[in-house]
Amino acid sequence: QSKQLGRNRYQLFDMEAAKDLRAQHQELERIREALQYGELRLFYQPKVNLRTGQVVGLEALIRWQKDADTLLGPQDFLPIVEHSPLIVDIGEWVLRQAIDHAMQWREQGLDLIVSVNIAARHFQHPDFLAGLQRVLAEHPEMPPDRLELEILESTALDDVLTMRALMAECQRIGVRFALDDFGTGYSSLSYLKQLPADTLKIDRSFVRDMLDDQDDLALVEGVIGLAATFRKQVVAEGVETPEHGLLLMQLECDYAQGFGIARPMPAEQVAEWISSYRPDWKWTLFADRRCR
Ligand code: C2E
Ligand code: MG
Ligand code: MG
Ligand code: MG
Repeated sequence: QSKQLGRNRYQLFDMEAAKDLRAQHQELERIREALQYGELRLFYQPKVNLRTGQVVGLEALIRWQKDADTLLGPQDFLPIVEHSPLIVDIGEWVLRQAIDHAMQWREQGLDLIVSVNIAARHFQHPDFLAGLQRVLAEHPEMPPDRLELEILESTALDDVLTMRALMAECQRIGVRFALDDFGTGYSSLSYLKQLPADTLKIDRSFVRDMLDDQDDLALVEGVIGLAATFRKQVVAEGVETPEHGLLLMQLECDYAQGFGIARPMPAEQVAEWISSYRPDWKWTLFADRRCR
């Protein structure tokens, strides 16, 4: 009887799987159209220097403006794309768009580093470097070292030797690298030593709880220490409150990003946001005291 049940269940799953596949395929087609019809947009979240309070750069974060009142975040549609070749087209669009925006800001006198998230499959694609060079060549006035590529720590650990070679090739043309969501991927010290990343981005889950959770605090401190040891820069993401900011300054973290500083915003709002930005007075006070 249980066998019978098992077989029925199996058939049911099979049908569901087929339906799932079709639905996924349709969803993928819909996202391809979104790219074609200009429904994808980049939002930008500022990154500030914790010593000076200065805005040093922005991270590009993809959104899908599905209709006038539906704005989808990456989690709502990127997972479907991540295993399809479409991720390469979207990734190149993101790179091109981010460099376009960076150039517009440069023309307004803003020297900012623009960070772009790169999916594993895109980065490991044999044409990645050629695509990157092609996009940079469209803007010869864009200094390559004002572009930072963020790859997940877990992606970098997939195959350290290959990743190291790929990163080194990109760095030869001048672009920077950050290891994103750092602390979630179990890097060993020897791996970290081999990876030529310029920056470590502490995952926001550790930052969020570091004020109440000793383990998370230890992890944040540990990553900041690692960055110092390996002469890398370190960014804390998910900085939501002044208390987060103050503690990170005390721990000598270099940069911070988070809702407490600014939420991701449309490109058109960036220049105005920067011109009206004043670092929180508590942070400034603290920074002054540290300098003395
Ligand atoms: P990520 O690269 O780690 O980006 C940080 C995410 O944390 C963003 O979510 C941002 O909105 C959010 N965040 C920033 N500050 C805070 C904060 O203080 N509190 C909280 N709760 N969240 C904060 P978002 O935009 O939904 O992006 C999620 C992930 O999607 C990104 O994580 C990145 O891995 C991926 N992603 C975003 N844009 C792109 C893209 O253009 N290409 C690729 N391949 N992946 C992207
Ligand atoms: Mg990122
Ligand atoms: Mg992250
Ligand atoms: Mg993340």
